[in-house]
Amino acid sequence: MARARELFPGGVNSPVRAFLGVGGEPVVAARGRGSRVWDVDGKEYIDFVLSWGPLVLGHASPIVLDALEKAMQDGTSFGMPTELEVQLGTLICERMPHVEMMRFVSSGTEATMSAVRLARAFTGRDVILKFDGCYHGHADSFLVHAGSGVATLGLPDSLGVPAELATLTLTAPFNDLEAATTLVRDNRRAIAAIIVEPIVGNSGFIAPEPSFLEGLRALADSAGALLIFDEVMTGFRIAPGGAKERFGITPDLTTLGKVIGGGLPVAAYGGRRELMERIAPSGPVYQAGTLSGNPLAMAAGIATLTALTPELHRRIEKRTVALVKGLQKIANELAVPFTADCAGSMWGFFFSSTPVRNFTMAKASDIGLFKRFFHAALERGVYLAPSPFEACFMSAAHSDDDVADALDRMGDAMRVAIA
Ligand code: PLP
Repeated sequence: MARARELFPGGVNSPVRAFLGVGGEPVVAARGRGSRVWDVDGKEYIDFVLSWGPLVLGHASPIVLDALEKAMQDGTSFGMPTELEVQLGTLICERMPHVEMMRFVSSGTEATMSAVRLARAFTGRDVILKFDGCYHGHADSFLVHAGSGVATLGLPDSLGVPAELATLTLTAPFNDLEAATTLVRDNRRAIAAIIVEPIVGNSGFIAPEPSFLEGLRALADSAGALLIFDEVMTGFRIAPGGAKERFGITPDLTTLGKVIGGGLPVAAYGGRRELMERIAPSGPVYQAGTLSGNPLAMAAGIATLTALTPELHRRIEKRTVALVKGLQKIANELAVPFTADCAGSMWGFFFSSTPVRNFTMAKASDIGLFKRFFHAALERGVYLAPSPFEACFMSAAHSDDDVADALDRMGDAMRVAIA
């Protein structure tokens, strides 16, 4: 890490990895297998971060490695259309039929940034509405009340974002339909898009209240704006078909990332054909990428989505529920103010006596206790997201024994954290 700090800002290549949210030295990863990751000193952890979500089959899944090995023999990049792109695109389309057409990119940031560009082009308007504590990548328009790493560092916004651009991003509290309605009403001819994480993962795990997403759908329609579901984190985690399947609400555009690359850099944005046909070269909205649709990344994504059947999804979900219920039980027995929740293979918790419905409430949870618990769990070989404002994940490689083992260790950690 000393050498890394000379080479990289904060010693890392993405801020939350630096452990500033919890203090102490980051874990330096050496290798992973299944549910486990080992650091460079040989210490083993049960991993619930899973590269921040992509590894739904676990570390070094033989299914993914075999697909990579095979694809690699034919070359690592072409900058030409390939059959692999069609295969992954078809898999996504089958699971999310509302994504009629898509474009592959290499990061979630690219996906959301491009989706907003398309929404602006389609509507001829500039303003977007996002929600406090939702993170949509680091493009300028989104670094306003952005949750996650930004919040962990205590930076309300980022320097370097032009004030003029920031004025085009309106924010409302998550789960506050009334605030969103007021903003949309006051800006109805200016709003190009409402963008939302259907379940927030970047303020910790926060589920939408029953009519919130439905309300946003109606609001977008009433203002002639597009509804964008940012499913970079939730996609293929909260249901086999994502938020549309779980909540029955159809967005105009969807952004995907993480799971669809199976651990390699892939993301996508897509939606109705009439919208996506505006993207170059079919239409006038420019967006491109040298490594977009990279064959290795496509192969990893195809292997991952093919393996992730609805049956496997249900199996992982069952273990996630068991973990979350187990944690809640431990906290209740210790009389610790605690609330935990999950959807599919995504989960999270707060040291809070009431359920958390927005970012303000997340920030009001007991952050000091979170830090003590995090470090006590880490010491006992459980790797949780190193910030109170991040979701955790489960993979197909986590067995019932892993869940029981993790609960034992986290139970000890909680006792130590409150002592
Ligand atoms: N959108 C959401 C919901 C995310 O969680 C993230 C990253 O965590 C992004 C967008 C940005 O993705 P990336 O880090 O691949 O740029």
